[in-house]
This record gives sequence, C-alpha cells and structure tokens, in this order.
Amino acid sequence: MRTPLIAGNWKMNKTASEAVRFTRELVQQPLSTSAIDVVIAPPFTALAAVRDSLGPAPAIGLGAQNLHWEDHGAYTGEISAPMLKDLGCRYVILGHSERRAQFGEQDDLIHKKLLAALKHELKPILCVGESLSERESGTTAEVIEQQLNGCLAGFEPARLTNLIIAYEPVWAIGTGKAATPEQAAEVHQLIRRALTAGWSASVAASTRILYGGSVTPQNVEGFLASPDIDGALVGGACLQVDSFATIARLAQKQTGH
Ligand code: PEP
Repeated sequence: MRTPLIAGNWKMNKTASEAVRFTRELVQQPLSTSAIDVVIAPPFTALAAVRDSLGPAPAIGLGAQNLHWEDHGAYTGEISAPMLKDLGCRYVILGHSERRAQFGEQDDLIHKKLLAALKHELKPILCVGESLSERESGTTAEVIEQQLNGCLAGFEPARLTNLIIAYEPVWAIGTGKAATPEQAAEVHQLIRRALTAGWSASVAASTRILYGGSVTPQNVEGFLASPDIDGALVGGACLQVDSFATIARLAQKQTGH
C-alpha cells in the first residue's frame, strides 16, 4: 500500500520571514494527514525557520530542493545531506528539470546525489520527464528509461525502499498545460515496468510515483484517481496556503479518510 504524497516545491521563492508566515498559516489549516504525507520544500535559507514553525512533532515533512553528493569539503556554495538532516529535512528533490536544464545536471551526477541522500536516510524525490520535442518525436519512453537507468544505475533493490519518483513532463512545468491524467498514467505505468525490469517487482510495487506539472486544486483529483499516480509534486500552486492546502485536502479525501 503506497501512502499518497503531496509535495510542494517552492523553488527560489519566499524569504525566511515570508516562509514563517506561510508555514504558520499552513499548520492552522483544517488539514488531516492521517492517510497522506505532505511535504514542503523551501529554499535552503528558510529551512531552519520553517522547521521551527512546523513545531516539534510536525504533521508536514520538510524537504530540500537539492544537495551536494559529498558530506563536506571544499565545495563553495554547496549544501550536503548531513547539513540537511541536521536542519530536520526528511526529503530532498533531485534531478528537477530546472536543475538539469539550467545547471547542467546529468544522470551520472544525479546518481551521486541519490547515493548521498540514501546514505543519510533522506527520501529522494527523483524527477524524470521528457521535453516537448521528445514527446512530439515519440521518444518519451526511451528518455524516461534512460533517465531512470542512468540515475539508478547499480543500486541494489534493497537500497531503494525510500525512493520516490516524480514524473514531470518538462512541457507541463510552469506552463499551465498539465498532462492529461491518461498521459500521466501511461508514463507512470512505463516507469513501474522499468523498475520491475531493472530492479525488482517489489521496488516497482512500493515506489511512490508522483505527477508534477501545472497541478492545481482544479485538476489534482483527476490525477489521483489513477491507481498508478501516488500523489503530486506541486510548483506554482504550492506558493499560496489556500491552493496547497486544498490540494492536500483533496488527496486526503480521495483516500476515504
Ligand atoms: C515543478 O517545478 O516541480 C512543478 C511541478 O511546477 P508547476 O506545478 O508550477 O508546474
């Protein structure tokens, strides 16, 4: 049984003080997390303040948007997994398409980051997804399989119990043009087949696969209705308390709780 997960990727938005105001408001929302996991991923600079605002036994998990693969050392400007753990993070987004496109991250580097996350018991949310031209040229399956095989190369199935995958078609991110639930479900099924072939049927059955790309309160239920879609990675709509809390509430409602 996979617990649905709603994760908010704040990207480079909100100062620490804005983050505190947001978090205080969010925790006051009538939002039950008895049957779902809810995660927010603020910028590094707001992690400590958000952790404090979430309180001592938080119902909402804290995530980071990136990490460096080494634990410490001469890596000016970088942040390591132990540093994130120390700040209370339990999740980390890796391989986001913005990092791939704007910062040159490739699968081999993302692989090293995944190793670091898993070593330090951070749950990685590994993003994969095809560009518009790749979709239009009919290579979506190939691209996704290549990303999975590159990022997850050499991992023993037993190492992947904490893995979460987010299918994020690049053409749907921040564009307001979400994939249809059918398009998303098709790719989620192909990801599960690839996990079975490359790792194990149990990894395929237990890995949560989120959909991301212009998810809103209006369209989230359509995605969650598919048995292969285990939640959402939300960008734009996670920046307002109302829309993020509504998405989480709809996910909770879908579980029947
Ligand atoms: C994202 O960047 O992970 C994302 C899904 O963004 P948006 O919801 O704004 O498309």
